[in-house]
Amino acid sequence: MKCPYCGSFRHKVLDSRVTKDGLVIRRRRECEDCKRRFTTYEYVEKTPIYVIKSDGRREPFQREKIKAGIEIACKKRPVSIEKIDEIVAKIEEKIYSLGEKEIQTKFIGEFVMEELYKLDEVAYVRFASVYKRFKDTEEFMKELEKLSKEKTK
Ligand SMILES: [Zn+2]
Repeated sequence: MKCPYCGSFRHKVLDSRVTKDGLVIRRRRECEDCKRRFTTYEYVEKTPIYVIKSDGRREPFQREKIKAGIEIACKKRPVSIEKIDEIVAKIEEKIYSLGEKEIQTKFIGEFVMEELYKLDEVAYVRFASVYKRFKDTEEFMKELEKLSKEKTK
């Protein structure tokens, strides 16, 4: 993998930590070229969890969707990509630790709000205000995008 700052492939691992459930390995790395530090996450392959949408449809849980939503909510806020990856890992860990094969969208939304609340007030308000009105993920993301643009004008 590449250093997110300079693109170098040379880096060393400073610290590795495994989450409580043993499904995520977090590694703190240092780039040997630019000397900057970054964190990577490795995910153990696991049985997919299905997300039950409000209309009853099911789709496999995707970490990227949560991440995209959080990124939009944090647009132009003092929140690093690393921090976002960290809370996505935390939320995912929470979802898997429930030990269920299916989870309702609204619970995922609540987990996200819980983390955003601790992270950044503006990002939380953006996410929460849109989240409460929308049932459909695509529509929700569009609205969130619109809102984060308005706020930064
Ligand atoms: Zn580098």
